[in-house]
Amino acid sequence: MNKFDYLIIGGGIAGTTAAEEIRSKDLNGSIAIITEESERLYSRVLLPHFLRNENTLESLFVRKVDSYRERNIQLLTNTKVVRVNTQAKLVKTLDKGDFGYGKLLIASGGKVNKLNISGGDLPEVVYMRTIEDVKNIKEIMNKSQEAVVVGGGFIGVELAQSFIVNNIKTTAIIREKSFWESVVGENSGMLLSQILTQNGVDLVTGQQVAEFIGEEKLQSVKLTSGNEIKADIAGVGVGIYLDTDYLEDSGLEIKKGVVTNEFLETSVPGVWAAGDIAEFYDPLSKRYHSLGNWSNASSQGRTVGINMAGTKVEFQTTSMYSINIFGTNFSFLGEPIVDEKTEVIERGSVGEGKLARILLREDIVTGASLINMPLERNIITNLIKNRTKVTATKSKIADPIFDLAQLL
Ligand SMILES: Cc1cc2nc3c(=O)[nH]c(=O)nc-3n(C[C@H](O)[C@H](O)[C@H](O)COP(=O)(O)OP(=O)(O)OC[C@H]3O[C@@H](n4cnc5c(N)ncnc54)[C@H](O)[C@@H]3O)c2cc1C
Repeated sequence: MNKFDYLIIGGGIAGTTAAEEIRSKDLNGSIAIITEESERLYSRVLLPHFLRNENTLESLFVRKVDSYRERNIQLLTNTKVVRVNTQAKLVKTLDKGDFGYGKLLIASGGKVNKLNISGGDLPEVVYMRTIEDVKNIKEIMNKSQEAVVVGGGFIGVELAQSFIVNNIKTTAIIREKSFWESVVGENSGMLLSQILTQNGVDLVTGQQVAEFIGEEKLQSVKLTSGNEIKADIAGVGVGIYLDTDYLEDSGLEIKKGVVTNEFLETSVPGVWAAGDIAEFYDPLSKRYHSLGNWSNASSQGRTVGINMAGTKVEFQTTSMYSINIFGTNFSFLGEPIVDEKTEVIERGSVGEGKLARILLREDIVTGASLINMPLERNIITNLIKNRTKVTATKSKIADPIFDLAQLL
């Protein structure tokens, strides 16, 4: 049986960054990354751009084949972990045997939620999480004239944009009143919807899909209202789930994800978690949460790598998410959660076509969503990072003429 000093489940940005950080601190320990995919690290963030032919397949790969060899990191592809035994310090795989470990990192990310409804297994009902998914969407999209997008989150936005760019008539079906409303609030949701409709997306709100209709091939999408929309492709983006089934009986504390403390250590000594799968303790908000974005996964990978190699560093959220929607910048900074302790201040308006929604807790800026406000991005990022108290000037934040840099 193979045994590694450091074993990492997940070859995404969290797992890969952790492996590289460990190697920079420990020159001799053996390191292996296990991934069920057949590829080395690629950028999921760039997948929609590849779908729109804005970049090549090769440019998705953000590590060279050689970079693993140079750092003496073993990459075990096409290897699916099915069990973790933390007492015997053993990881069981589907068909590649068992692996022993000294220290273990869980960085297995998220998996797409599938729509379990009639017709949901037709080949033209597509999802976007992996490189294989996007190759498949491309092939079907190139033969399509009419598309339906299901879901009002960022994957829905990316799919709708990609279909329009490929000259496909596109209808988006969303459950809420507007795009991403549950995360960005009503006004920002309205502005996002406006940007999409102005660029040709037909929007059907307050509706859900009841059925995908077609014998061997998708023909139309039936809504709960009974209406039918013709489609030869349906792109679905209804969120991700954290697959923790393989961690059953491992002794790890699991809620929505794998629970960690502020050092990204799990409840079992010698086992850490990072990236989308981690439900980590944030000392600032004094709460546990998980974030599904690249910058969070990357910085957690760095922190966890340092900690696994022997130093103890607290993880501090510096999450940032930025996409381009038909030429308009949309950014998400810090923590997205709004609860009874969150104060929400809006700056700008739907009418002006730019809007910031700034979130504060105890007069500290903890998060923000920004539409078409690129200049505010760095300032707000710094406010979040520095945990700046803005009590004295808080009342001015909503005034678009007030320079936010004065808060720093
Ligand atoms: C289409 C798309 C666009 C995105 N765009 C943006 C964006 O613009 N900005 C942004 O910030 N974020 C974006 N994201 C989110 C971002 O990509 C993720 O948050 C990030 O990739 C999470 O990294 P991770 O390393 O935690 O997990 P993942 O990237 O999900 O990697 C998980 C790894 O674990 C492996 N794995 C899972 N289960 C097992 C198992 N049982 N056995 C073995 N291996 C396993 C997988 O094969 C994979 O290698 C996007 C995501 C998608 C899908």
